[in-house]
Amino acid sequence: MRHHFSLLTTLFVSGALGAPLYAQAPAPAPQGAAAQPAAGQMKPADTEVWEPVPKVVTPGATDSAAPSDAIVLFDGKNLDEWVNVKGQTPATWLVQDGVMVVHKPSGNIETKRKFTNYQLHLEFRVPAGTTGAGQARGNSGVFLASTGNGDSGYELQVLDSYENKTYVNGQAASIYKQSPPLANASRKPGEWNVYDVAWTAPVFNADGTVKSPAFVTVFHNGVLVQNHFALKGGTVYIGKPSYTAHGPSAIKLQSHGDPSPPISFRNIWIRELP
Ligand code: MG
Repeated sequence: MRHHFSLLTTLFVSGALGAPLYAQAPAPAPQGAAAQPAAGQMKPADTEVWEPVPKVVTPGATDSAAPSDAIVLFDGKNLDEWVNVKGQTPATWLVQDGVMVVHKPSGNIETKRKFTNYQLHLEFRVPAGTTGAGQARGNSGVFLASTGNGDSGYELQVLDSYENKTYVNGQAASIYKQSPPLANASRKPGEWNVYDVAWTAPVFNADGTVKSPAFVTVFHNGVLVQNHFALKGGTVYIGKPSYTAHGPSAIKLQSHGDPSPPISFRNIWIRELP
């Protein structure tokens, strides 16, 4: 009788709480669970991981300097790592005073090497006393993966956005026409701006459909401006972005046709990631 009463009480309480009785029954032990201690019996060492050991990377003298495992794409001396997109001929932008200056008649340049996932550091400067307004003021860009000639690819916008109004998904540090930056961290013309980028390339299925989109995280002068943004496809000036399957790709710098004075780049390095 006592037992019977107890069961009734259990049923009643269970019903009152809205939980089915079976949910209170202990789950059957999964196969191979014998080696897993119950949570209350775990020791600190049970959750320690010792291998594989991360590789040692010697950082640069400053956080802007290339770490020991970086590929230096431009160190102020020459454009040996770059070609003109048009014709794939040696890059003909100008190297002067340790910086590279956009040579607008030469068009875009891109790396000889191709990349998939990476960390990229680069610095750019819009010249002091620049001219123009909106998109026609210090416009350039970093195509995080070039997918063809011209401006084909995924553009991280470069622009003078220091007190220069334009559409927000086209200002500096935007993913052009897709994602405005989370903040405007632009330094004024004549000063150097820094982009630090983590790029995860898109992955495609055998039939060319998207398995996973591209993701990008960007710091502009140390300020987080793109936070693991999932790209909608390649950059387009007019219309909606979409993906076309591709493999490892060059990184491309834009020679924009606006009449403002050409901008400069320096200290470009990259670390390939798994
Ligand atoms: Mg641009």
